[in-house]
Amino acid sequence: MKNNKESCPLCNADLQGDSILKENQGSYKATHFTRKIGISDIERDRIVKWKCPDCKGEWAIQ
Ligand SMILES: [Zn+2]
Repeated sequence: MKNNKESCPLCNADLQGDSILKENQGSYKATHFTRKIGISDIERDRIVKWKCPDCKGEWAIQ
């Protein structure tokens, strides 16, 4: 079973948000919302970086 607990690689803040109700999970397969902020590249029209709401640090998506 995959541990999907997330934390900021820069300040180690817990980025796991509230639980998603089972009936609202739909096709996302996620059990929790996440507190990290997606930074999208407008030209590529996809999220390329995450931003931490606590330390405001950014890191690239692997
Ligand atoms: Zn952080």
